[in-house]
Amino acid sequence: MTIKIGKAPDNDYVADDPQVSRHHARLTRDEQGILLLEDLQSTNGTFVNGAQILKKRITPTDHVVLGSNYILDIGQALRANNDYCEEFAALKQVYDTYISKKVRIQSANTFRTRLFQALPFALPGIVGGIISLAGGSRTFLGISLLVAICAPCIGIYLGARQAAKAPQLLQDLANRFKIDYVCPKCGAFLGEIPWESLANKKHCPVPSCKAKWVDG
Ligand SMILES: [Zn+2]
Repeated sequence: MTIKIGKAPDNDYVADDPQVSRHHARLTRDEQGILLLEDLQSTNGTFVNGAQILKKRITPTDHVVLGSNYILDIGQALRANNDYCEEFAALKQVYDTYISKKVRIQSANTFRTRLFQALPFALPGIVGGIISLAGGSRTFLGISLLVAICAPCIGIYLGARQAAKAPQLLQDLANRFKIDYVCPKCGAFLGEIPWESLANKKHCPVPSCKAKWVDG
């Protein structure tokens, strides 16, 4: 996360002071939350707790002065941050995982449904075969008839039960996705839109947010 600080309006944090350079300094925060302040070859320099610095690790309680007298409120500068590139990049994994899980549920379901529906139909044939081998006993004939009647019913029941499971799994997956696939700044659900398409937009489309997703 990077915050550009200076007098020019294209900075993330505009410090309007005649002693501040157009592009004066850069404040970065890494994944561990460590803040690093860098002077961008400013005319009047950057000072942390009274000492001039070029690059220094700072904390929000440090006293930072740009040029001779502009006091930089670090907390305020951090709130001016609109750079959500790192957080947005992490959403690619969220989208890819969602799509692959969805495909897996759908294809597994189609296969199992067909299997359950088809398998019991084979049973009467198998039983019939056993009967022939056993020499046509009445008991086997009875069993064969019973299976012939029941098997398709069981097949249809199992198939239907399997088919009923998928919508619930897909619903659970979609619910989770709605929580995870959101703008890292404003929390708006991004819809079932491929990550790459969103990356092309570069910014969050919510007017009050406009979080930067991709640099450039
Ligand atoms: Zn947003």
